[in-house]
Amino acid sequence: MTEKNIALISGASRGIGRAIAITLAAAGMDIAVLYAGNDVAAEETRLLIEQQGGLAKCYACDVANSQSVAEAVAKVERDLGPVYALINNAGITRDKLALRLRDEDFQRVLDVNLQGAFYLIRQCYAGFLRQKRGRIVNISSVAGINGNAGQANYAAAKAGLIGLSKSIARELAPRGVTCNVVAPGLIETDMTKALPEEAQSSLLARIPLARAGRVEDVAALVGFLCSSAASYITGAVIPVDGGLSM
Ligand code: NAP
Repeated sequence: MTEKNIALISGASRGIGRAIAITLAAAGMDIAVLYAGNDVAAEETRLLIEQQGGLAKCYACDVANSQSVAEAVAKVERDLGPVYALINNAGITRDKLALRLRDEDFQRVLDVNLQGAFYLIRQCYAGFLRQKRGRIVNISSVAGINGNAGQANYAAAKAGLIGLSKSIARELAPRGVTCNVVAPGLIETDMTKALPEEAQSSLLARIPLARAGRVEDVAALVGFLCSSAASYITGAVIPVDGGLSM
């Protein structure tokens, strides 16, 4: 019997992360659902995966805390095995004009969106070296490519993820591990529900495909990047944004 690939997805309790978890489970991977604290939502993701015949386990973990990440990855490796696909999807926003951004608003958004991804990559790195195979997908944003008024902290973190990803892509390419960036535009999730109505409609008006994206639109690309068909793609930044960033 061939061994199953293990996928670890941060922020998989809800939104885009949940859709990615379901997609990778459907592709035959065992899933580690990392989440911040919403036990009910994480359990729902696990049940959805079980209902389609897959296996998932849940791990509460603050990705911004290196100790918490080290403990969670150790548990995942013990329970499921070494991570084959690492999806850095956990993210938060604290939107304000730069004039009003407090130190902690800037720092926390960097800590979760950027440093969290680094901690998870570092923790899985040795496992990738040993396996001589693997996939890393980092979820950035169109804001990281074009910037966005009111999101200086978030855009800086998401742009930082692109530099991090290209560096890791270069480091791990000789070991057969790819690292790519997916940059969603406006996707319908709890995160965007929180946006003021005017912000949502002005964004929608700028999307050539004239609709918000669905979580499955993002998950489909992540699924492809984690498949063997994508073995020659690394260091790429791929938007899923209905044309918003072109
Ligand atoms: P969401 O619905 O708000 O879900 C956020 C997820 O991240 C939840 O699972 C949450 O866990 C987890 N999380 C938050 N802080 C965490 C922490 N410190 N440690 C571990 N997990 C943490 O977000 P989403 O809209 O699906 O976004 C997913 C990713 O896509 C984010 O990186 C976001 O920046 C990016 N993105 C989203 C959009 C969009 O339009 N939605 C556009 C571009 C990029 P709990 O459930 O436990 O709180």
